[in-house]
Amino acid sequence: MRSQRPTASTASAAARSSTKKAWAHSPIYIEGPVMRLNCPHCGERSLEEFTYRGDATVRRPALDAPAESWVDYVYLRENPAGRHEEYWYHGAGCRAWLVVERDTTTHMVHGVRPAGAASENARSES
Ligand SMILES: [Zn+2]
Repeated sequence: MRSQRPTASTASAAARSSTKKAWAHSPIYIEGPVMRLNCPHCGERSLEEFTYRGDATVRRPALDAPAESWVDYVYLRENPAGRHEEYWYHGAGCRAWLVVERDTTTHMVHGVRPAGAASENARSES
């Protein structure tokens, strides 16, 4: 049976006393006012409830598309300065996937909508 408690440090007493604890930064560190997202299902919530899940503008190529198209789809992403659509997952809330239109230079959020609605629009445009 495994213990639930962490194991004790094996460092010497001198080594333990000479080091300071360091706290890791959040993967998303934004200076200034705390960014909040207005989930269409839950209302305005702290960014900590959400997880960034990638570029929402990338479209899957056709199954018979050349390999270069698939390489671009899988590996290449734009790094835009300005308004951009991103997928965010509300893991600590309704667990919905959202499309957030955000300015990458100011972090101002211009709109949030359910991701399902985005894919519906993409299908009707093509
Ligand atoms: Zn939500």
